[in-house]
Amino acid sequence: MMKNPIQPTIPLDADGVHHGFLKLPYSRDDSAWGSVMIPITVIANGAGPTALLTGGNHGDEYEGPIALQNLATSLSADEVRGRVIIVPIMNTPAFQAGTRCSPIDGGNMNRNFPGRSDGSVTQKIAHYVATHLVPLADIVLDFHSGGRTLDFLPYAAAHVLDNKIQESACMAAMQAFNAPYSVRMLEIDNVGMFDTEVETQGKVFVTTELGGAGTATAKSVAIAGKGTRNLLKHAGILSGAPDLSETVQLDMPDEDCFQFSMDAGLIEYLVDLGDTVQKNQMIARIWPSDRTGCDPVSCVAKRAGILAARHVPGLVKMGDFIGLVAVPV
Ligand SMILES: [Zn+2]
Repeated sequence: MMKNPIQPTIPLDADGVHHGFLKLPYSRDDSAWGSVMIPITVIANGAGPTALLTGGNHGDEYEGPIALQNLATSLSADEVRGRVIIVPIMNTPAFQAGTRCSPIDGGNMNRNFPGRSDGSVTQKIAHYVATHLVPLADIVLDFHSGGRTLDFLPYAAAHVLDNKIQESACMAAMQAFNAPYSVRMLEIDNVGMFDTEVETQGKVFVTTELGGAGTATAKSVAIAGKGTRNLLKHAGILSGAPDLSETVQLDMPDEDCFQFSMDAGLIEYLVDLGDTVQKNQMIARIWPSDRTGCDPVSCVAKRAGILAARHVPGLVKMGDFIGLVAVPV
């Protein structure tokens, strides 16, 4: 495969604070010799571990980009031992369009890892991150939220892995992030995910789901900011101990946690995020969007637990995800 065409405009290995871009040539109608410019900040100070912090993997999720913009402007090199690489808006074209996937190639970045150096714009960005940034890192934090079609309880997550030593390192990092909820997650379909690529490279990996509904709140942004600094303390890059509050431990053991709509229409939730549900309890019902006098279709929980994610906004299509029931540990 050809060499990845992305070039950083700043050194990735120099001490100090450097703000710049990953520059990806992208010739198109409105800019014949144009480039996609992906913002990056590197803050480094001598020997020590490297953290890679990413947001905007999906373009309509905002806690990560806000917390990482904040960190990039507030963190000084003096505070750091080692290096922090910050890419707050990884899928820049998607982020600038306010969409989950890229408007250039339709690429869902988190289904395109490890990417291709000779692929589409999304694939080239994924390939550069996978082959040039992840190998530099000891620990990787990738921010997600629900975007425009999901809303989540604020949680950090780590995956069940074959390598139990790596798994316990990831779980410890998740606990250090210290979101209000901490989820041990079995990924149902992990092909192409950034998570999988980072874990395959043997790194410590933490991800989040911190809210959603197409925006960020003061609370969810505060969780992202505290969690980021906690993780850097846990890694030994920032000094001091993580600031820890109570967190609810959740497990997501199998596919029965996930609920999908079997009809289209107007969804009426009968429980809210964080509410306890019993097995076979109706969590929502779907009313017709085009007539009166018909009974709604029931959506019944397949297991007991708490509602950890739901659909937004008010209308659903057949096959839409409508509920995640996670199990308190
Ligand atoms: Zn996402």
